[in-house]
Amino acid sequence: MSLKDIIGDNEVCRQLTALTDSRRLPHAVIIESRDRNKAKAAVKELAKISVCGSEGIRPCNMCSSCKKAEKGIHPDIYRVEITDKKQAVGVGEIREMIASCYIKPNEAPVKVYVINDKMTAEAQNALLKILEEPPRNVRFIISCESSTAMLKTVLSRSALFKLREDTQRTSDESDEKAEEIAREIAEAIPKNTEMPLLVSVGKLGKDKVLAQKVFEKLSEYASLALEEKFLHKGIRQNHIAGLAHSLRKKSLVSLIDVTARAQKMLSQNCNMNLLATWYCAQIRQSRH
Ligand SMILES: [Zn+2]
Repeated sequence: MSLKDIIGDNEVCRQLTALTDSRRLPHAVIIESRDRNKAKAAVKELAKISVCGSEGIRPCNMCSSCKKAEKGIHPDIYRVEITDKKQAVGVGEIREMIASCYIKPNEAPVKVYVINDKMTAEAQNALLKILEEPPRNVRFIISCESSTAMLKTVLSRSALFKLREDTQRTSDESDEKAEEIAREIAEAIPKNTEMPLLVSVGKLGKDKVLAQKVFEKLSEYASLALEEKFLHKGIRQNHIAGLAHSLRKKSLVSLIDVTARAQKMLSQNCNMNLLATWYCAQIRQSRH
């Protein structure tokens, strides 16, 4: 997996790639993500890039360093981890790490210290000392769930990269796009021909974040349409009024149910093509 596969084709990926390609990755890098697996995978990839022996694009995934890094057995990649059932990495582990920092790397151009576990404030204070005057050929790659758990002094000595879904596009833009597609789907549902529905659902492509937002909107529209059917408030939005006037109550309830099931499937990491086909078929059925 490349960095792009791990964190997505976004600004953070471009920044990190530019730094690694130009051999300017800072000596201390912090990756923040609520997704622990994603953060760990990114840390692993950056460690591999750091030890790769290629003169060209790194990681080359071909050299012995890359292969060892991939298997987790590279002698210059050290993992600083929680020991003895403690809650966090303590000052003892960090002091041990610092002592080994001054010993030259075995085979790679740099020694890499990977820290994926939480650190106590005391441990971070100890880490700070080495971040202030790092030995040559040493790199620290740290991941955290939230940078608020890190001391400000440590953050100020490191390059922080926040992995977020919305770094691909601003959330406003994506909300707008979601609303547009949701409206199109809502307008397509009452139509007698299948094509508009297939086309509008097809616009979700493989974008699961977008799909989640679209289904949220659709669920909201269907609920409002159902409310309109009972209360006759005279709703103005055409796409909601359209649903209210052309679908029976039973069909609207079914639309809410199908949409909720689609959201659940999304959260279970389903195949997007299958989901789109399934959703259209369910809607077709619910109209009868
Ligand atoms: Zn390599």
